[in-house]
Amino acid sequence: MRLWIRGGRLIDPSQGLDGPGDLVIAGGRIVYAGPPLPGAPAAAQAGSRLPDAGALGDGAAAGGGTGPNPAGAGLQVLDARGLWVVPGLIDPHVHLRTPGETHKETLATGGAAAAAGGFTAVACMPNTRPPLDDAIRVEWLAMKAAAEAAVRVYVVAAATRGLAGDEPAPYAALKAAGAVAVSDDGRPIARAGVMVRVLEGAAAAGLPVLVHAEEPELSAGGAMHAGAVAAAAGMPGSPATAEAVMVARDLLLAEQAGARLHVLHASAAVTLDLVRWGKARGIPVTVEVTPHHLLLCDEDVAAAGFHPHWKMNPPLRSRRDREALLEAVADGTVDAVATDHAPHHGMDKDCPFPEAAFGVVGLETALGLLLTHLVPRPLSPARLVELMAAGPARILGLPGGTLRPGAPADVTLIDPQRRWVVEPERFASLGRNTPFAGWTLRGRAVGTLVGGRMVFRLDGGPVPVPAGETAAQEAAGTQETAGIV
Ligand SMILES: [Zn+2]
Repeated sequence: MRLWIRGGRLIDPSQGLDGPGDLVIAGGRIVYAGPPLPGAPAAAQAGSRLPDAGALGDGAAAGGGTGPNPAGAGLQVLDARGLWVVPGLIDPHVHLRTPGETHKETLATGGAAAAAGGFTAVACMPNTRPPLDDAIRVEWLAMKAAAEAAVRVYVVAAATRGLAGDEPAPYAALKAAGAVAVSDDGRPIARAGVMVRVLEGAAAAGLPVLVHAEEPELSAGGAMHAGAVAAAAGMPGSPATAEAVMVARDLLLAEQAGARLHVLHASAAVTLDLVRWGKARGIPVTVEVTPHHLLLCDEDVAAAGFHPHWKMNPPLRSRRDREALLEAVADGTVDAVATDHAPHHGMDKDCPFPEAAFGVVGLETALGLLLTHLVPRPLSPARLVELMAAGPARILGLPGGTLRPGAPADVTLIDPQRRWVVEPERFASLGRNTPFAGWTLRGRAVGTLVGGRMVFRLDGGPVPVPAGETAAQEAAGTQETAGIV
């Protein structure tokens, strides 16, 4: 089966594409991405070959082994007029709570939430119960996810055994089992000597180290950003320096070890300054930011009456920090947007702010929030796609993030005008903990394809139809229009 996605705006920064264009998919892979293809569907059905795309064959090049297939046979057409056609979005940082906390999220619900948010792949963190610190668990989770999740799930393995911060995990075995990176996310690796061994071991195995940068003695007891708002409210605070001193340490240690370092959820202005310094110095460092740190600050925590849905780690920082993050995504310092999707059960949040669990969900709101508030300024549509697709793929060494011919047919269809309201009770995720409930957004994924298969379609979203039916519909539409005139 081949699918011809026609008439959309093709945005793929990996190939410098942004304009009217068509996409042709066959055998689960992209076979054509470029200017609109001539030839009406009726002509295609009559057996004439699709120029360019037809010449590429069906399945043979992608390893399907089905042999040549005339363009007209089994051709489906998806009308993408008014939509953006972009490489499938990739979230490099989610918590799927499997194994051990499946009352908070499962591979099926997390996968469905990802697909509904326009994501075709996610990387899940190892702070599960038990943690993903050995090869058997990594392999088990990857296999289970392939069977149960609608999107691709890549596994980030633990950096230290038991996430205890003492003993490096067995990196070569973890990589052989399918891990794409290592991290003790949620728990900082406090001891510099251990961190050196983590970086050296991961570098030898060819895995990036993803760091949750937090100096635990400086952040101890903190429920929110240590600033004027926390001081006025008498809330225990965690300072920006708790993040920054660890980023500074890890940049130096990564340079010494020759390791690839990725800074998770940067929240402070000074962190971005340090990353700029590291990049200028040639240290292989990348950095991600979350939608909530880009759109909210500590003043919003107070305005929300210290509701636990505004509590996450790292915390929402000052207005100045937020502005610095926006500058850093616009100027190219930031490599990726990540949601840090962290579903919790209601009872983990149904308590006073200082005692509530850290974390917010993000898979189903990230795209709409950024489209509404950051596009086209300060981010062009192409820059947004880079931050949400090509960037994460590059950081984790994943095959997606591009619409290049030969790439997996992971595609997100976005209606940039679609208005909608964030209603947590309608989330596919089991988590309802979001500070964005009730927000009206403009722009949303209306279709998500993984390996050429549609895994999500919003109500009223585009439906692939056999080429002949499209032609018939178009003909009927023309007649109706003629009748009205
Ligand atoms: Zn974290």
